[in-house]
Amino acid sequence: DVLGTKGNTFESFHLKRELLMGIFEAGFEKPSPIQEEAIPVALMGRDILARAKNGTGKTAAFVIPTLEKIKPKLNKIQALIMVPTRELALQTSQVVKTLSRHMDINTMVTTGGTSLRDDILRLHDPVHVMVGTPGRVLDLASRKLAEFDQCKVFVMDEADKMLSREFKIIIEQILKFFPQSESGNGNGYQSLLFSATFPLTVKSFMDEHLYKPYEINLMDELTLKGITQYYAFVEEKQKLHCLNTLFSKLQINQAIIFCNSTNRVELLARKITELDYSCYYSHARMPQAERNKVFHEFRQGKVRNLVCTDLLTRGIDIQAVNVVINFDFPKTAETYLHRIGRSGRFGHYGIAINLINWNDRFNLYKIEQELGTEIKPIPAEIDKSLY
Ligand code: ADP
Ligand code: MG
Repeated sequence: DVLGTKGNTFESFHLKRELLMGIFEAGFEKPSPIQEEAIPVALMGRDILARAKNGTGKTAAFVIPTLEKIKPKLNKIQALIMVPTRELALQTSQVVKTLSRHMDINTMVTTGGTSLRDDILRLHDPVHVMVGTPGRVLDLASRKLAEFDQCKVFVMDEADKMLSREFKIIIEQILKFFPQSESGNGNGYQSLLFSATFPLTVKSFMDEHLYKPYEINLMDELTLKGITQYYAFVEEKQKLHCLNTLFSKLQINQAIIFCNSTNRVELLARKITELDYSCYYSHARMPQAERNKVFHEFRQGKVRNLVCTDLLTRGIDIQAVNVVINFDFPKTAETYLHRIGRSGRFGHYGIAINLINWNDRFNLYKIEQELGTEIKPIPAEIDKSLY
């Protein structure tokens, strides 16, 4: 089911009429979820890192805002869409052409394995949107056959593949031909990266080339990738003391602290407040309205720490949270995964710290086995680059 749930319409994006006609003629009636998320943000000019399953309409999610930004009267390449394979280049250029059929926009597709001379001839005519594979595009750029000094939109589809070792260097060389930032704030162009998977290897590219990317993740599975997990053996009575030490030692951006019962949540929240740390709490016995308020304000970053039961674990994905603490160790691997695991953090790192008492020790081992993960003893110092 590719249809969006927010009830947005393509009209609500305030696109040019000719573009809207192209969209409807392509048979698209309503935006898909990834389109609902990505199109308005891309239109605002932000860099985007978007992850969604195959077949969910990612192509139109980047093609529509790209087309909206093109100035047909400016005879320059204004958008470059990079894809890893020739077939995909053809398919993507077809989508661009279909959606822009009522616009005065020229699209060129260029890939390896075709005649360079044909490309050179083609470039005598105006090109607004170029769709291509890395090698050929770099070839055209280095020979000054294609100019990217007015190219304001840079798209990478299948971005994880584009950033594999063979391509990454080429991509970085291509970007050298792109406009530089005038304000020194961000880049002189906008980057839209789309993929179904984003391994951690994408992170270095992100850090270097994207400016405050807006992250979209419509994959629902949880992952422990990028989360370093530790345990500390602590007697029940020492747990609060241990937590206090962690608070003073760690550079917490935001933390979620889990307890196994409602009573313990309230008790711990009170203790944390007494220690002079800001803290909210949430559990199932609180009125829904209050829970919503707590969650909302925590998400906005109004308070640093949140103590809660498992009630809150599902579907939580707050990027500012870099530390998760299991004050009480969960009973099952599933609960553990939901507390610690993150979706859509694209290489954002985090740490998880488990306070383990004597009775938890078998469970620790069991959960580690079940999830095929490693929970290490906590070192005296935790490297800040891990979270
Ligand atoms: P992805 O890149 O996410 O795998 P595609 O962009 O290739 O997905 O799109 C998958 C299919 O969905 C295509 O056939 C496309 O025409 C169709 N599609 C995309 N957006 C919509 C929409 N809003 N309404 C109906 N069909 C759509
Ligand atoms: Mg695709």
